[in-house]
Amino acid sequence: MKRIRVLDKNVAEQIAAGEVVERPASVVKELVENAIDAGATAVTVEIRHGGITYIRVTDNGSGVEPDDVPTAFLRHATSKVQVFDDLNTIGTLGFRGEALASIAAVSRVEFVTKTHDAPYATRYCIEGGEETDHAETGAPDGTTIVVRDLFYNVPARLKFLKRDTVEAAQINGIIDRLALSHPEVSFKLIIDRKIKLHTPGNGKLLSSVHAVFGQAFAETLLPVDYGMNGVSVTGFVSKTDAGRKTRSMQHFFVNGRYIHTKLCTAALEEAYENAMMTGKYPSCVLNISLGFDRVDVNVHPAKTEVRFAQEREVYDAVLSAVKAAVSRADIIKRAQADP
Ligand code: ADP
Ligand code: MG
Repeated sequence: MKRIRVLDKNVAEQIAAGEVVERPASVVKELVENAIDAGATAVTVEIRHGGITYIRVTDNGSGVEPDDVPTAFLRHATSKVQVFDDLNTIGTLGFRGEALASIAAVSRVEFVTKTHDAPYATRYCIEGGEETDHAETGAPDGTTIVVRDLFYNVPARLKFLKRDTVEAAQINGIIDRLALSHPEVSFKLIIDRKIKLHTPGNGKLLSSVHAVFGQAFAETLLPVDYGMNGVSVTGFVSKTDAGRKTRSMQHFFVNGRYIHTKLCTAALEEAYENAMMTGKYPSCVLNISLGFDRVDVNVHPAKTEVRFAQEREVYDAVLSAVKAAVSRADIIKRAQADP
């Protein structure tokens, strides 16, 4: 029998990092969520080589106080949750205090940040979990983080990454969803020095849909705006003649967080029963908002799943919201055909 030993700190960090950081897209997601949580109104993401060698995220948010910068890179260090009960009212995208620690454990990070009130900016570098530089510098308000050489010290992980173009497409998908869930933020995505996406940040979801999916898609949509039992459902769904062969254009957000939800998919599709050709699926970009205490987002480290306290209420709200949008459009269409 081998003896039982406590893992060395770096190995333990790398294992824990694996839960949060699976690939470049997961790094981008965490960093942009931090920017949004910091109140940024403009976020620029630049990647090279599918994000494997280079990811830069710049925001104009709150920044981090000089003294807090090293702490931000400790595991379970967060400014967003203090006591256990806070977990019941999470209004921010992050809360586990794991992202920066995880990313820094498996890459080379350069973090430059300045709060509005601080007289100078802080530059903090950390590689494989070890601090390599910590100095005062000059920079505008906000935060820029550069992540280089992801998984340089975890060859087993590096081997499992896909081609650059595949990793870049994943990142593109993440930014699309963040842009759709936050129309109030202007996003710019630069892939290998080309601008791939630029949203206006004017607060209008339709403008984001336009920028992300193009005008042709935007024109196949009907507006949804509905509230029931304290659950509000807003956004856009397909016109009945605009079904698609797959569900790939169904996008759900709960309290501003992109999630996978079979429950809402089922409600959406039930609303179209008989109204859409069989074998076709409706598209949607739907925001579901409800009290933070009625939804548990702390189900999985990647935070892409949620648990609703009352599933039935959410189901019914989505169903009624979509039905109302579809039947309203139907009435208008019939009135136009038969004036
Ligand atoms: P979490 O987001 O779960 O709190 P992170 O590890 O992602 O954990 O970040 C740790 C802390 O660092 C955050 O709680 C926040 O205070 C600070 N932070 C990280 N990124 C930024 C940013 N872009 N702007 C301002 N503060 C940030
Ligand atoms: Mg975070």
